Amino acid sequence: MRIGCPKEIKNREYRVGLTPESAGELVAHGHEVFIETGAGGGIGAFDSHYTDRGAKVVPTADEVFEQAEMVVKVKEPQPEEIARLREGQVLYTYLHLAPDPEQTRGLVESGATAIAYETVTSPHGGLPLLKPMSQVAGRMSIQAGATALEKAHGGRGVLLGGVPGVMPGKVVIIGGGVVGFNAAQMAAGLGADTVIMDLNPEVLEKVGTHFEARASTRFASRANIEEAVAEADMVVGAVLVPGAAAPKLVTRAMLKTMKPGAVLVDVAIDQGGCFETSHATTHDEPTYVVDDIVHYCVANMPGAVSRTSTYALNNVTLPHALRIADMGWKQAMRADPHLAQGLNVHAGRVTYPAVAQELGYEA
Ligand code: NAD
Repeated sequence: MRIGCPKEIKNREYRVGLTPESAGELVAHGHEVFIETGAGGGIGAFDSHYTDRGAKVVPTADEVFEQAEMVVKVKEPQPEEIARLREGQVLYTYLHLAPDPEQTRGLVESGATAIAYETVTSPHGGLPLLKPMSQVAGRMSIQAGATALEKAHGGRGVLLGGVPGVMPGKVVIIGGGVVGFNAAQMAAGLGADTVIMDLNPEVLEKVGTHFEARASTRFASRANIEEAVAEADMVVGAVLVPGAAAPKLVTRAMLKTMKPGAVLVDVAIDQGGCFETSHATTHDEPTYVVDDIVHYCVANMPGAVSRTSTYALNNVTLPHALRIADMGWKQAMRADPHLAQGLNVHAGRVTYPAVAQELGYEA
């Protein structure tokens, strides 16, 4: 199969659909890989890294799309990319169609076959092609929050791990799923006093068993959240109610009870945020202050660590890309019903029921 990977063009997106190693793996399977020149620049991969592994570097995105039977990307296609798609071509990338009627219409009209990373499932449950980005965001949340806690960045001047003779900082993580678990690993690893809160007793049990004395768990009742937030140096918002906006668990009134200069990191901001005072920020200006509390609410945290994120993403997307390339997408989906869950648009139809229902298409 001929596989194409263009340079990402969404604002400030530095990741790339295929690493040089992934391109090399596809070549080793007998496929032809076309990379747009400079596509790997944001992860420190040069054209020569791709050509060394047998891929062909072409000068324009037009050429990538022309050559490719399957286009592999990271972000949803932008309008000029949709205009390049054609009937029968496979697009394999994050799509997030439900809130995006314009993109959906474009894909439907293109006649292409669009496979969305975010709806591919796993026999072990969960959404395996989303998971690495939650791992990245969870781990980054502590790093970002620790920087925001520094005095020069508006924080209360607390070092999370403390030093001998001085107490460590207190980190409260609300939500003990993928983001929360990874945040706890970083916070506990730094020596912070770490508390993980969740409503699901099974999550609390799993987290409690894993961390033992290195972190404590607490049921996320309103009263417990109020108490924990008032004592915290940093609060990480890591909740998810699938298919719904994040619940507002920290209210503006609660900010008044917090220590001035404490930090809120709202990882759930991509679902509207779980703090009442959250609004989405960018890596250019990641924080703002409300009632003396520093807020960090970057909606695409993994974009800042583009190299780690690209490699983490490729680890989970490449095995499916190889199967689609080796077998053709239809055969690959027949063989793997979890990959079949990724099919969102095909031949002018929205095939993913939840998206079709949301946007008024016949599935
Ligand atoms: P997850 O499903 O693995 O975990 C969510 C957890 O929240 C679950 O354990 C659930 O029991 C818990 N929860 C739900 N409601 C709760 C409540 N009211 N109180 C306490 N706990 C509650 O989800 P995840 O992968 O960890 O993702 C968390 C959020 O982070 C999502 O909104 C996701 O989209 C977002 N995210 C953001 C970025 C970013 O760049 N900002 C990157 C990756 C993920």
